[in-house]
Amino acid sequence: MAHFICTACGMQYAESEKPPAQCAICEEERQYVPPRGQSWTTLDALAQSHTNTWREYDAGLLGIGSTPHFAIGQRALLLRTDKGNVLWDCIATLDAATVTAIKGLGGIQAIAISHPHFYTTMVEWAQRFDCRIHLNAADKAWIMRPDPAISLWEGDTFKLWHGVTLIRCGGHFEGGTVLHWQEKKNGGANGRGQGKGIVCSGDTLTVATDRKWLSFMRSYPNFIPLSAREVGHIGRAMAPFSFDVLYGHYFDRVIAKEAKAVLEKSIARYVAAVEGKRGY
Ligand SMILES: [Zn+2]
Ligand SMILES: [Zn+2]
Repeated sequence: MAHFICTACGMQYAESEKPPAQCAICEEERQYVPPRGQSWTTLDALAQSHTNTWREYDAGLLGIGSTPHFAIGQRALLLRTDKGNVLWDCIATLDAATVTAIKGLGGIQAIAISHPHFYTTMVEWAQRFDCRIHLNAADKAWIMRPDPAISLWEGDTFKLWHGVTLIRCGGHFEGGTVLHWQEKKNGGANGRGQGKGIVCSGDTLTVATDRKWLSFMRSYPNFIPLSAREVGHIGRAMAPFSFDVLYGHYFDRVIAKEAKAVLEKSIARYVAAVEGKRGY
């Protein structure tokens, strides 16, 4: 018996004798089955072939990603808040070095994930660090490895603790979530963000390649856009929150300043484009 992991999207499944016949995430219109077909691995096999790489955005915020690239290739973030560490989003690879390093930084007090593409091995992480996983209830059907560590939250927002709030934006997934972090002294990040707040967006809000704009899609690999109504809703969900820096889901996808204004102009550009009112 093993907990098999899809090599195309990184989703880990409930324990089984043989790999699942197909990956529900990859079969769905937002992902894809690679030309070589579906293949599977395990956490032990990944520990032999991959290692994790770190990037310190500042002392309070660290990125963790897999080398070489695995599955979707996102990096997770470790937020070192006043009241404990949060793992935002998740990566499949969890090796001994990563566990030792994170334990040295105080462990993980909560895991929160933007959407099902990044659920991956979340249960393994929760078990290693003895913490809960907070997911939006609207995406419950996409949990492929149920576990008592998973807590589902409902409504528009959920406070992990003071200064750390999950915001449901919808869009890419019905329960698509971002994390807002603001602390009195440092706004979450000691260097960047300076008391103005930061947002970790996964690909609920995607930082474009130019790092000057955001965009919003139902499917990124299959180019399925969202409607003006859905993107307008994202703007309304984010309106009460102030923030200056926004972290997307790859190491280099960061809006380094004035991120709230970038979000507002990006929503306006997107809505004008889909409504045929671009003006150029
Ligand atoms: Zn998959
Ligand atoms: Zn996604």
